Amino acid sequence: MDFNLNEEQRQIYAYGENLAQTYDNRYWLEHARSHTFPKDMFKQIADDGFLGLMVPEEYGGAGLGMTEMSLFMEGTANHGIPLLMMVVGPCMSLSHLSSHGNEFHKKELLPAAVKGDIQFCFAITEPGAGSNSMKISTIAKPNGKRFSLSGEKTFITGADVSDYCIVVARTKAHSDVAKKTDGFTLFVVDLKAKGVEMQRVNIAIPLPEEQFTLFFDDVDLGPENVIGEVDAGFSILFDMLNPERIILAALCSGVGRFALNKAVDYASERNVFGVPIGSHQGVQHPLAKAKANIEMASLMGRKAAWEFDNGMAAGASANMAKYAAAEAGIEAVDAALQAHGGAGFTEDTGIYELYPLMRLLRTAPVNRELCLSFIGEKVMGLPRSY
Ligand SMILES: Cc1cc2nc3c(=O)[nH]c(=O)nc-3n(C[C@H](O)[C@H](O)[C@H](O)COP(=O)(O)OP(=O)(O)OC[C@H]3O[C@@H](n4cnc5c(N)ncnc54)[C@H](O)[C@@H]3O)c2cc1C
Repeated sequence: MDFNLNEEQRQIYAYGENLAQTYDNRYWLEHARSHTFPKDMFKQIADDGFLGLMVPEEYGGAGLGMTEMSLFMEGTANHGIPLLMMVVGPCMSLSHLSSHGNEFHKKELLPAAVKGDIQFCFAITEPGAGSNSMKISTIAKPNGKRFSLSGEKTFITGADVSDYCIVVARTKAHSDVAKKTDGFTLFVVDLKAKGVEMQRVNIAIPLPEEQFTLFFDDVDLGPENVIGEVDAGFSILFDMLNPERIILAALCSGVGRFALNKAVDYASERNVFGVPIGSHQGVQHPLAKAKANIEMASLMGRKAAWEFDNGMAAGASANMAKYAAAEAGIEAVDAALQAHGGAGFTEDTGIYELYPLMRLLRTAPVNRELCLSFIGEKVMGLPRSY
């Protein structure tokens, strides 16, 4: 759907179709099944200038915004080639280094990342602090101008293929801060630094990107590693939440559309009682309902991106878009699966293998319940429950 887009935005949205001429859903599935990072596809995306969509032109990027980043994501997901690495790297990490990074981040790291020479992952989750990120205990103890980072992060997507990780750590203990959002700092951590170890988390989802637990043992960090202000990391973190929600809404809308398109083709051809199965309303209506929900979620994502790009408070739309798109994505893949009958479960159609990714996005990175709590409390004014 290219409603209300300018020519450049239309081209960005159409890029997924071009990319899929070489790197199609079969390619994505093969990498997802073997948990192998699709290096060639990522390189192509870098060469075509899409890693730096949100990076200012002076650092080698395209200087565009969240609208274009989500159009890129939705356009690629429409063709069954969604990459979580685009979420944690170019969307979350690079856009925030662009806004809050220091000279070293902007002049050295960003130009290399835009070219795909270095990659970034993002780490906030800890075994003892998932949805409640204020409970994190990974600490970067200040020592003069330097810090010593110790702790553990888990479920970190793409740590194995990344050179750097943006790590959210405490720089003050819980007991030493007046406000519970104070005392956090964001660091760019070199994953080859002394004291960094990683261990694979075996995730049961066909995905090209793998997840890792990162262990930090007295990792030496300096001022060059700090993003933004020491102890004021939560304000940067708040800036990151909406882009993550918006880009994932785009991903779910695209994957849902991809599954529905496959189901339409199949249901128009498959004939078991003398007519194509798609002519039975029992097959057609679940697909149509899912289609309506996907398009509504997609539009809400566009609204959220537009608000974000125009400096408006995007939290309400971003949470609604993420919530609605994850639910619509699950519904769409499930309806497509049902329409395919037994064929939906074969490796040949690859429909069933889309389901775990959609289902994941109801739970992570922000779960359905926290999106609904945001809407209930912040949008509707209901009392806070936690
Ligand atoms: C494949 C994968 C990739 C990931 N990639 C990354 C990454 O790159 N970087 C990163 O930092 N993290 C990553 N994560 C972690 C992810 O963001 C967390 O799993 C998620 O935030 C939920 O945290 P948790 O698992 O600790 O769940 P918990 O916080 O333990 O919550 C469990 C469940 O309880 C319910 N719940 C919790 N709190 C409330 C509440 N207040 N009200 C109502 N219900 C509630 C929800 O249903 C929730 O699903 C990834 C996870 C997975 C599985």
